[in-house]
Amino acid sequence: MPAQSASVAIVWFRRELRLADNPALAEAAARYQHVIPVYLHTPDEEGPWRSGAASRWWLHHSLTALDESLRALGSRMILRSGSALAQLESLIEQTGAEAVFWNRRYEPAIIERDTAIKTALRTRGVTVESFNASLLFEPWEVATKAKTPHQVFTPFWKTCLAKSCEVRTNPAPMHLPTPAKFPKSEALKSWKLLPTLPWDQQFYKSWTPGEAGAAVRLRTFLTDAVTRYKTDRNLPGTEGTSRLSPHLHFGEIGPRQIWQALSQLDPKSTNDDVNTFRSEIGWREFAHHVLYHFPTTPTEPLRANFARFPWESNADHLRAWQRGLTGYPIVDAGMRELWATGWMHNRVRMIVGSFLTKHLRISWTEGAKWFWDTLVDADLANNTMGWQWIGGCGADAAPYFRIFNPMTQGEKFDTDGSYVRRWVPEIAKLSNQYLQQPWTASAAELRTAGVELGKSYPRPIVDHAEAREYALEAFEAIKSKS
Ligand code: FAD
Repeated sequence: MPAQSASVAIVWFRRELRLADNPALAEAAARYQHVIPVYLHTPDEEGPWRSGAASRWWLHHSLTALDESLRALGSRMILRSGSALAQLESLIEQTGAEAVFWNRRYEPAIIERDTAIKTALRTRGVTVESFNASLLFEPWEVATKAKTPHQVFTPFWKTCLAKSCEVRTNPAPMHLPTPAKFPKSEALKSWKLLPTLPWDQQFYKSWTPGEAGAAVRLRTFLTDAVTRYKTDRNLPGTEGTSRLSPHLHFGEIGPRQIWQALSQLDPKSTNDDVNTFRSEIGWREFAHHVLYHFPTTPTEPLRANFARFPWESNADHLRAWQRGLTGYPIVDAGMRELWATGWMHNRVRMIVGSFLTKHLRISWTEGAKWFWDTLVDADLANNTMGWQWIGGCGADAAPYFRIFNPMTQGEKFDTDGSYVRRWVPEIAKLSNQYLQQPWTASAAELRTAGVELGKSYPRPIVDHAEAREYALEAFEAIKSKS
């Protein structure tokens, strides 16, 4: 009697680059005799949002880490590039796989592609199943009383919290059933994800991509900073937030795991802080809800009247903003932190976003594009939500007329000036009185601090009061035409 062939499943890893709490992997390992882990590099299928340079850096290291973890289980990651469907079909032929399992993604172009792949593979008789590894609540599970998608955060989050939150997580498998012979894999290096210019040096000091790095980051946050989160989360000079965003984006840790870890903390010492932190995870859920239900928002404002906003096109201003040379220290500090580390503090993201869209009146889409290329946590849902929020044109957005004053924001949230001094060293010797607005210092003060305005540090590229007036006028114009 011929030996019965073993059952084989392909697990297609995407944005859940982890072994624990990975439902696609756990299901495949439980139901099939052999599991083949696969990652497909398909930049042409990401629509206009193919990974930026900082994300590619992260992906390279995250895949390296995941492959090492798989090898420790006797398995390995198979890498393929090109068309996802063609690669899956070729892998199915080579391995005799009967099933393909993956965890869901929520970007519009990816949903469209994945739906087509599901249909094509099922037509061939392949079992295809997808799971939720990235969100606490699927976007279609939460709705207003009128059964419409939410557009305001507070009722959205209240609806979520009224549901029971699934925090059951699968541990990482101890062993993976692997085939005798793996199919061919491409070499990760051949994808050239790392930059050719050594602009990423500081990334290595700032980050440890991978599941283990994410677990350390969460543990560190929970042993200390979480107890002061409510206040310290606004201070860019302090390590007051979790810095989990790139790990969450790449799925090296999932929100269910975070939720579970939070529920194990002592409620007496941390309740307010933990609830504030939970609601930030809630903003991530909200951003995915909005992107899913309003798929055009990465390029079009949710508030239709903003399609008429008279945005400026000024390449010099845009470049000065990107390079951290606007003459406004808190703005420049943020843009330089971004360039050096691939990350920027949330408070400062709001300040630089307000500056671009209001002081410079450059479209939020230009800001979103720059962030997309330079953030290690660049995420279509969160980035779109963040930019439409600060630009005043999105769901639950800050009103456009709320224009952040970069000087008072700096004085309030960087009171001791440590953040500006770290990222804008050329003005570090100015006293706190002038640090957030060097142009108000006397010639003698500037000389003592070694600052030559216009030479060693730029004068403000726009005047705050004037820029504010122009922004309000432009806003009035779109209001009156609606
Ligand atoms: P923590 O304060 O520790 O929060 C924990 C987690 O909650 C974060 O890791 C993140 O996943 C989520 N979160 C926190 N704040 C928000 C928020 N406002 N919206 C959505 N999720 C949130 N976040 C991204 O992950 N990717 C982006 O591309 C992105 N672009 C942004 C652009 C702008 C203009 C703005 C204003 C915000 C943007 N954010 C983005 C949201 C936020 O700034 C970052 O998630 C946060 O700074 C990450 O740091 P953390 O992990 O220490 O956050």
